[in-house]
Amino acid sequence: MSKRLEEILDYNKKFVINKEYEPFVTTKIPNKKMVILTCMDTRLTELLPKSMNIGNGDAKIVKNAGALVSHPFGSIMRSILVAVYGLQAEEVFVIGHRDCGMTGMHAEPIIEKALEAGVSQEKIDTLRHSGIDIDHFLQGFESVEESVKESVNTIKHHPLLPEYVTVHGLVIDPHTGELELIVNGNQ
Ligand SMILES: [Zn+2]
Repeated sequence: MSKRLEEILDYNKKFVINKEYEPFVTTKIPNKKMVILTCMDTRLTELLPKSMNIGNGDAKIVKNAGALVSHPFGSIMRSILVAVYGLQAEEVFVIGHRDCGMTGMHAEPIIEKALEAGVSQEKIDTLRHSGIDIDHFLQGFESVEESVKESVNTIKHHPLLPEYVTVHGLVIDPHTGELELIVNGNQ
């Protein structure tokens, strides 16, 4: 068993006692009135905010695999709407990245791994028979630019998004942090 949890809890006690949180004190309202949707890729954890000059308190950051809005009424879109209506965000940045694990991802290899890990074929069949499109659910995208454009479109045309919110689309290089503009929401 991993000792990660114990390590984290020990570290955390010292962090709080030593008041190491002090440089991070801020409010929940994003200073730069922006919300970022990006990928959960580990290379972006610090690189993405640093490369954009985003500090603690500057932006709401929503993450998932691939920076995707897969469903207009799913939890990602809800988070964006909460950032807009509850937290004064006025600008949305969808930021995909080069070399994303979701590029060219298909359901079949994941299902195979699930079977190897002990998930029964019966369960997978039951999902399929209950009308769940498991192949679509576990599908990535072919082009990160197209995917970013689609997510920008879904957000921009969402019936609950107010007109004043601008939605940009970008792609980041996970090595250099270089941003490439795909959709300029101001135009
Ligand atoms: Zn990714």
